[in-house]
Amino acid sequence: MGPLIQSPHRLLESNINKITDRKFITNGEWDINLLTNVLPDNIIQNILSIDIGSLDLNGEPIWNLSGNGNYSKKSAWNNIRISKTRDSFLSKLWHKSLPFKFSFLSWRLSHGKLLFNEVVSRFGNQSNALCLCCNTPVLDFMQHTFSEGEAARQIWRLIAVPLGITHHAGPIRRNFKECWDFNSKNKVYSLILQVTPVIICWQIWKKWTTCKFGNQRKIAINKMEYQAIWNLQAILQVEFLKCSITGNWTIMCNIIERLKPMVIIKQVRWIKPDMGCIKLNLDRSYTSNNGRAGIGTAIRDNEGKIIVALSRPKQCNSNTQAEALTAKQGIQWCISKGYHRFQVEIDSQIISNMITNKRTTNMKIKKDRLRYYQLG
Ligand SMILES: [Zn+2]
Repeated sequence: MGPLIQSPHRLLESNINKITDRKFITNGEWDINLLTNVLPDNIIQNILSIDIGSLDLNGEPIWNLSGNGNYSKKSAWNNIRISKTRDSFLSKLWHKSLPFKFSFLSWRLSHGKLLFNEVVSRFGNQSNALCLCCNTPVLDFMQHTFSEGEAARQIWRLIAVPLGITHHAGPIRRNFKECWDFNSKNKVYSLILQVTPVIICWQIWKKWTTCKFGNQRKIAINKMEYQAIWNLQAILQVEFLKCSITGNWTIMCNIIERLKPMVIIKQVRWIKPDMGCIKLNLDRSYTSNNGRAGIGTAIRDNEGKIIVALSRPKQCNSNTQAEALTAKQGIQWCISKGYHRFQVEIDSQIISNMITNKRTTNMKIKKDRLRYYQLG
């Protein structure tokens, strides 16, 4: 079953409501003559390729646009929405640990949507407001306040330079890119580089609005620096619970730069099955681009000797389907050779639950599940 938007000819909608698929099945096969009476040829070919399955079981709708066959509004919306090409610059402005208002401010800034002289002038009112960041004020433009002004240059130097970033008094987007294109050495460093320009811009904006609409006359650097560092520390603590780095910002940056991933060594080995049992080790590969999959099974006795090794190329719709087919191949082989006591080892939680609990929420592999029951 496809999305409603792609349902075949609207003229047929009334028929679809009244006729069930079973009326088109004769002696367990699709009845081509009946199908030809109501559907166009191109759709008939699609229907003929659908496996009828067991007529003793009730039919269940499968939503092809989701991985598990269940309907979701998200998959339906993604199918019909008209989306623009993803802008990698804009997507980096957002991070789950950043408050929405921080990222939104940077988004507005990168689109030139803040109330500075150039924006006011666009509405036909010439604005000559002076900046709030320099000892000798100049005209207040966005690029000046966020990148070129005295306050901006100082805060970028205090926060970004210890991270190894060179600040260029120029286009704001360039300052962001300098941070994001920097070669980060670990995940912590990489996160800090991503959020730093957003936090700096937020702090500048906060101080700018305080001066513009409050009592303060000039942007104060000290508070801005303290609050930016506090923001960065808070994000570190939320994202990396065990990473508590505090103190002087320059020292913190040096520590962050030198962090290395912790190496954990864990022994993994094959474990013999119980006496009188054989063991199936299952694995698969799957390429989503072309749907090509390879399924493989190694079956050993309880001494570890190989009884048989099976492998086969397959065409699948998803990784889960490839996993299901792998399990099916191995289990079918065991049943056909008279092995009724066997253990299955597979790195798929869905298939493992399906075999042990006989339960799955994945509609696309439900059909195969029912066949396992019949085998067992
Ligand atoms: Zn200024």
